[in-house]
This record gives sequence, structure tokens and C-alpha cells, in this order.
Amino acid sequence: MNEIKIFDVIIIGAGPAGSTATIALRNSGLKVALLEKELFPRDKICGDAVSSVVKRILRQIDPELEKQLDQFEEKVYIEKAKLYSPKFESLEIAFSKKGHCIKRIVFDNWLFNIACQNKNAEIFQQIKVSTVTSNQEYAEVKLEDGRILRAKVILGCDGAHSIVAKQLANFKVDRKHYSGAVRQYYKNVKGLEGNALEVYFLKGYLPGYFWIFPLNNNEANVGFGMLSDTIAKQKIDIKKSMSDIINHIPEVAERFKDAIPLEETKGFGLPLGSKKYHISGERFMLCGDAASLIDPFSGEGIETAMESGKFAAEQILKCIEANDFSSSKLKAYDERVYKKMWSNFNNHYILQRILGKRVWLINWLISFGNIPFIKKRIPKYFY
Ligand SMILES: Cc1cc2nc3c(=O)[nH]c(=O)nc-3n(C[C@H](O)[C@H](O)[C@H](O)COP(=O)(O)OP(=O)(O)OC[C@H]3O[C@@H](n4cnc5c(N)ncnc54)[C@H](O)[C@@H]3O)c2cc1C
Repeated sequence: MNEIKIFDVIIIGAGPAGSTATIALRNSGLKVALLEKELFPRDKICGDAVSSVVKRILRQIDPELEKQLDQFEEKVYIEKAKLYSPKFESLEIAFSKKGHCIKRIVFDNWLFNIACQNKNAEIFQQIKVSTVTSNQEYAEVKLEDGRILRAKVILGCDGAHSIVAKQLANFKVDRKHYSGAVRQYYKNVKGLEGNALEVYFLKGYLPGYFWIFPLNNNEANVGFGMLSDTIAKQKIDIKKSMSDIINHIPEVAERFKDAIPLEETKGFGLPLGSKKYHISGERFMLCGDAASLIDPFSGEGIETAMESGKFAAEQILKCIEANDFSSSKLKAYDERVYKKMWSNFNNHYILQRILGKRVWLINWLISFGNIPFIKKRIPKYFY
């Protein structure tokens, strides 16, 4: 029989949620196990848009971390979004604070390395968790190689296909609150504005959007995402849709004439925050994609993953103090997450539903926004 290793906290997944939680626990003295199935630096299919909110979250943990992100060389600063209507009229929305575009393989590795500085954390890489259980006494994980770890509490930070969400919270995919998206890196996309996120609402490809996000070295993150409900009902092949957009929509194709793809098109799921779940229970909490915390309109989930990871770490400290990891104690975590995020998710879900496939409405809204009197009054978007 294998010896059981004992920790205070087991964090499954070392993406933005899991790494942030590990960082937030670094001065707690708690014995942490951070378990990751990949080997860092690892890629994550994403648009690579890292909003300015991330800086605020890092600053709240330690102002030094914000400074380190500012010194990052591999990022570009993002100052605005350019929204394109189906008739290719564009509307610029300025951001009140600069965001960034950073390849996830770089950003996540940076964050993971900071998490590794937690002296009380044991880091396991290339180890897949296969089973999680919890009861009133302890929470336990079984690794694929048969090893068993036990702790007071588990954080499920294991992304869109979270086994913690499936095995402990009984989550099932609800396609009405889930998106599918693809990404492909390119070099030499013509007319790339170095400081703008380009978002295209295209006739025949709604509800969803095509994006071109700038990166350093004249590279771009190019992608396309749609609601999973529509993908399933209309049997849409989103990889083919992206290729059709790039090759056959003249306004887009012109931009890609001399562009060089740097990889195959890759896809991944986005669990959206438009539906509330129980994101904690007996001795466990879910964070980030595992808790379905992606913005239902923009598809952003890095900041909410990091914020929920930080909230979960703070909740653990309260549970330690009270020596109580019961589901009723952990409910405070659900309440805090949804108090912070739900109104934004809900408003963006309403926007997603209203725009839907209404080409005329999107055309009208973008034209309306361009009327000089209106344009002057569009507030800067907090990003
Ligand atoms: C195509 C696409 C574009 C996107 N664009 C953006 C964007 O531009 N901006 C933005 O903010 N968000 C974007 N998102 C959303 C964003 O990628 C996620 O919200 C974010 O990665 C969530 O972080 P996380 O830490 O919760 O999960 P993840 O980043 O997925 O990390 C989970 C980690 O858990 C590990 N893991 C999983 N299962 C196990 C297991 N059984 N055992 C051990 N380890 C395990 C994984 O290897 C992974 O490292 C996009 C998503 C997609 C799919």
C-alpha cells in the first residue's frame, strides 16, 4: 500500500487560477501541493489578451508583482478595441487602462515560476490527477501513478475539463453557457495595429466573433469562437469556419495575403459565467474555468481565474482559523465570487443574447456609435 502524503492544501492545475492561489498562500505557512499534468512552459489555447485588471490583482497580492509584469519584454500594450460590423464599419473603444497581449506560454510560465517561490509548496509537474474525493475529515486525490495525497482542502483549478468540477461538484457541460473557439498564430498580418484588439462580427458567423490580436515580433493571435449550442445545432466545423473567414471574406483575406501561419489551428472550450453553479462544497472550491467564470461576451477568463484563485486562498485562511472546511463555511467563497463577478457576467450575457445573429442590429449599433456627437460621449471601457 502507498504511503499517503499529507498537506494542508492541494491545488490541482497550475494555470492562472492555481498559480495565483499558490502565490497568495506564500506567506501563510500552509503546506501546499501544486499539481500540474503538463511541464512548464506549457501552452494554453487562448486569445492572449491579458486585461489591466490582472495588474490590480497582482498588486493586491504584492505590489512587486505588478512591477515585474510591467518589466516584461514579451508583451505589447493594448489601448483600444476596434469592433467591426458585418458591413465592415469599425468603431474604436478606448480603454481607461492599458491591457496587454502576451502569449500564454510566456505569461503562465512567469506566473508559475512565481508560484514555485512559495517555500512551503511542493510542485508536482507531469502528474495527472485521476480521482478526487472529500468527506468531513479530509480531501484526497489519487494520482495516475497510484500515489495518494491528502489535505484539509482541495482547490480545483484544473480548467475547462476539470475533474474536480465533475467528480466533486457534479458539473455537466451546458452548451447554452459554453463556447468553442480556435486559435492560430500568424506572422506578417497586413495592417496590424500594435495597440488594438480587432474584433469582427461577421455575417454567417454569429453569434460569435473573429479576432486578430497583436503580439510582439509582428506576430498575431488570430481566432474565432462561437456559442457551443449553435456549433452543435448547426454542425459547424469552427476550424473550417476560421479558414473560410481568412481565405474567402475579401476584407479579411486582403490582410492575410502575405501572412505566414506559425502553427496548425487549435481549439478549446470556454465555460461561460452566464450560469451560476455551486462552486464549493465539503472541503473543496473551484476556481477559474473549473468554476465556469469566463465572461460570456468577450470570452476573457484570465482575470477571473486569478481573482477567484486569490479569493479561494483568502477563504482558506478563514477556514484554517475557524478549523472549519464544511460546505456551509465555504459558501462564503461562492458569495464573494458572484458578488464581484455576477452583474458583469449577467449584463454581458444579456448583450450576447440581444445581439445574437442580428446583423442589422450590430450594423446599426456600430454606425450609431460613430455619429460624432455619440462617439465623443462613449466612455472609455474599463479593461
Ligand atoms: C480560444 C480561446 C481564447 C481565449 N482568449 C482569452 C483571452 O484573450 N483573454 C482571456 O482573459 N481569456 C481568454 N480565454 C479564456 C482563458 O484561456 C481561460 O479562462 C483561462 O486559461 C483560465 O485559467 P485557469 O487557470 O482556470 O485554467 P487553465 O489555464 O486551463 O489551467 C488549468 C491547468 O490545469 C491543468 N490540469 C487540467 N487537468 C488536470 C489534472 N487532471 N491533473 C493535473 N493538472 C490538470 C492543465 O494542464 C492546466 O495547466 C480564451 C479561451 C479560449 C479557449
